[in-house]
Amino acid sequence: MISEDLDIKITTVAKSKLDAAEEIELQFGKTFTDHMFVADYENGEWTNLEIKPFQNIEMSPATSFIHYGQSIFEGLKAHATDEGDILIFRPQANAARLNASARRLCMAELPEAIFINSIKSLVDLDRKWMPKGESSSLYIRPFMFGTEEFLGVKPSGRYRFMVILSPSGAYYSKPVRVKIETKYSRAMEGGVGSAKTSGNYAASLLPAREGFKAGYDQLLWTDANTHTRIEESGTMNAMFILNGKLITPKTSTSILSGITRDSILTIARDWGYDVEERDVMVSELKAGLEKGILTEAFGVGTAATIAHISEIGIDGEDYILPSVKDREFSNKMANFLNNLKRGREEDPNHWLFKV
Ligand SMILES: *Cc1c(COP(=O)(O)O)cnc(C)c1O
Repeated sequence: MISEDLDIKITTVAKSKLDAAEEIELQFGKTFTDHMFVADYENGEWTNLEIKPFQNIEMSPATSFIHYGQSIFEGLKAHATDEGDILIFRPQANAARLNASARRLCMAELPEAIFINSIKSLVDLDRKWMPKGESSSLYIRPFMFGTEEFLGVKPSGRYRFMVILSPSGAYYSKPVRVKIETKYSRAMEGGVGSAKTSGNYAASLLPAREGFKAGYDQLLWTDANTHTRIEESGTMNAMFILNGKLITPKTSTSILSGITRDSILTIARDWGYDVEERDVMVSELKAGLEKGILTEAFGVGTAATIAHISEIGIDGEDYILPSVKDREFSNKMANFLNNLKRGREEDPNHWLFKV
């Protein structure tokens, strides 16, 4: 069977895992659908485009990405409409960001058509895995890594691109307590913080564990030079309502440019909110918390969409934010985004892609 859009070879499972399962586990990232997409970059071109049963991959112990970290990924979601159609949110933006990450990590770029069509064909084939329920979705994980077999620091001459799908429920159920991190750094100016590359997450684990032991769910990273400016939250960008304005750190080489961030800024401007992308100082957040004018704080990203922050730890002092039910902007935005992604709102920016 050949997909009509691109030359993708398709081999389907004999029996869906869904037939055997009594109930699908919807914990984020735990369950995978029946199929996966694979393509290889060799001799300067992408070949062997294939959808096949989800299975282990075999590789040489000398495969370059294991040793030298040329590994990048994306994350996006598909949602069901009330009519049972499937909509993918802003896949072109993810295709562009994958290639931005590829350029920074000195990897091969992937044509947008392969990115979009591999996802579309895979989601279509596994569409019965779309979970039911308002807070559920099908999480899409495209990723690419260097596959040349050698030991030595140079860019890999071969790459593999893959897509896997995971049905998932709500990400965070309750608001999160965050600590402003001033000892460790996630990324530095001129580094790879703006690329969605594996090592950034490995680097964040120890600081996150120390924060967790001190009672915090997440960290708010600060700039590596001075630890005085807020950067982001590791898997989410950070936003605040300060003095009635929506403020967020401007993007840089040490901040991942989130698609949820961009969507929220676009919609907020559309709604007539005062929006500022600029340096956000730890000191002004502290002053805002003391004066009671920092009324909302939240992380924004594909996995959680909007994660309300209930408490911020600054230099050992914990500051409590107003109750979530009183947060006009972030609640309104969370609702709007959910409805938009399910086709219940107008889509003037053409963000929705129907499967
Ligand atoms: C993926 C990610 C985000 C959020 O990006 P979205 O496109 O909104 O999902 C923010 N920060 C980091 C470090 C990320 O990896």
